[in-house]
Amino acid sequence: MDLPTHPPSRLLVHPGCADCADAVAWLLSVDRAYQRMGSRTAFGLSWMLDHFRWGPSRWPAAWCELAGAETADCGVFADLCATVLETRGVGCERLQIVESAAPAQTRLWREQWEAAGAVAGWILSEDWVYHESLLIDTPTGLCHFDPSEMCEIGTERRVLWVRQAGGEWGSWQSWDSRSDNALDASPGNDAGDGEERLVDIVAAFQADA
Ligand SMILES: [Zn+2]
Repeated sequence: MDLPTHPPSRLLVHPGCADCADAVAWLLSVDRAYQRMGSRTAFGLSWMLDHFRWGPSRWPAAWCELAGAETADCGVFADLCATVLETRGVGCERLQIVESAAPAQTRLWREQWEAAGAVAGWILSEDWVYHESLLIDTPTGLCHFDPSEMCEIGTERRVLWVRQAGGEWGSWQSWDSRSDNALDASPGNDAGDGEERLVDIVAAFQADA
């Protein structure tokens, strides 16, 4: 079986689209409001589940499409959480993982995605699925975080493969037991025009904090 070659999912910023800019600003301002209220659970990210439940997203997806979305897939959640954490100045990196799932479950998911007109390519086989997660820097070390479930990924999950910073896929077992796991500080090299606009909005929020 071939493991995915695409990079972690990124919501598009349409050049010149006011609704895209508004969606980024909405995300960051709601997050700031929750931080001021002292939200402490799950890195204070769980508020997103009040707006989107985990489910199909149609790709390519843009920020301005969030307004009408009821569901968000792991790629959308990962991008939203990473954007928020970056704005807060929290170290965070996107991870791509492959984990095992029950065939009965993957059948249901495939039906759900197809019914929504979304591509179910993340279901790699009847018992392997692609997923996107985050590596978050905390005072006590790195946390492997599931942005779809808003919780740390523990040993109950059967993760098989992991890919960090667009490198090679490696076995989870050897990656997870490595003592020198660290965030890759090098900035992404996939920043196009839209991406630069997102960076501007994020920078404006940081300056205004
Ligand atoms: Zn747009």
